[in-house]
Amino acid sequence: MNFAFFTLGCKANQFDTQAMETLLRARGHEITGPARADVCVVNTCTVTGEADRKCRQTVRRVRRKHPAALLAVCGCMCQIDPDAARNLGADVVGGSGDRAGFLDAIERAYRSRAPEGTVSAHTRAETFEMLPAGSADGRTRALLKVEDGCDNYCSYCIIPYARGHVRSMPIPDAVRETVRLRNEGFRECVVTGIEISSYGRDLPDTPTLTDLICALCDAAGDMRVHLGSLEPRTVDRSFCEKLSGYANLCPHFHLSLQSGCDATLSRMRRRYTTARFLESVTLLREYFDNCLITTDLITGFPGETEDEFRETLAFLETVRFGTVHVFPYSERTGTTAAALPQLPHAVREERARRASEIAQKTKADFLASQLGRTLDVLFETSGGGVWTGHAQNYVEVYVISDEPLHNVRRPVQVTGVRDDGVTGVLI
Ligand code: SF4
Repeated sequence: MNFAFFTLGCKANQFDTQAMETLLRARGHEITGPARADVCVVNTCTVTGEADRKCRQTVRRVRRKHPAALLAVCGCMCQIDPDAARNLGADVVGGSGDRAGFLDAIERAYRSRAPEGTVSAHTRAETFEMLPAGSADGRTRALLKVEDGCDNYCSYCIIPYARGHVRSMPIPDAVRETVRLRNEGFRECVVTGIEISSYGRDLPDTPTLTDLICALCDAAGDMRVHLGSLEPRTVDRSFCEKLSGYANLCPHFHLSLQSGCDATLSRMRRRYTTARFLESVTLLREYFDNCLITTDLITGFPGETEDEFRETLAFLETVRFGTVHVFPYSERTGTTAAALPQLPHAVREERARRASEIAQKTKADFLASQLGRTLDVLFETSGGGVWTGHAQNYVEVYVISDEPLHNVRRPVQVTGVRDDGVTGVLI
């Protein structure tokens, strides 16, 4: 059978899609474009009301444009609301877990031409589903999902209900996968999950994320190891002391902030204060030379006063992030925060605009600080004689060259700055 995938959402969902593609190829199926597909699979996200809307829109469009194909829908939207996909014409419905079982249901439905699939509730007894790591495009960067689920229950987030409790991949399995990726020629391994800072808390000997990353860096050889999103509580002196010795660990840290005001953080039920966050940033900058620190920020959270928001703006000025992904608050039905009195959308968006202004300034400052530096760049794509790649600290780098640089790592001297990265010359 020919399969086509439509994936929405986070890196963990993208990982699940590439893993399902890998399993299907191993079963003798092909991954094609939708035009040739016997089966169209939509892997959904439900993180916000807006994400949900986009998923329903995608399912409707695929149903309309590919009426002859079997339509299979899975992922977080189905986990929260299984009937949604069925009511939109899905033949097979699956949740956010048991991806291999979902593929079995598709094969059964294709043979029987009868609706299939169930969404099973996540349970405490559930363990980590071992799925093959890899990449949907080429051999540059592979995703390695080492954790699924979350037990934090931030007040604006539906994910713990959609992904279940924390489940971790045992370290020996993660090491084996890392060695396989290295031997298959991948140049970078992105360590991802839903909440990797909780890694290991469900495993018998409760290893920490730091233990895992040490083991992966030891196994990766010259393959880069790139960390997914972190919670500030993970970054302490021991984390920095143990990991700063690894030349293959990318000094890019995405530390999720969400608000720069303690009162707002407490209403969000985030598990740190701005002081603890700043401590993590200071430690990272002490131990990792020229590291890039990026973050996420929600503006216009229920109850956020103008004074509270000004605290957030001041905190952005203090930390001076390399990149801030700014999101006007979008309520998600089923979360505690959605039941609170809401701020007008205009206020949420206006605050997002003000935060983005500061973010652009601090990003420009960070990029300017790269001038004259030599960066180790992994090149990926080219166009018009210009090669694009990422430095180890994840700054985007542009170089004019007619050499074949795909999947090649080369030192580059930075000679100029752009809005979205830097330019340089090959050394
Ligand atoms: S840490 Fe909070 S925001 Fe992140 S997935 Fe868990 S509940 Fe959601």
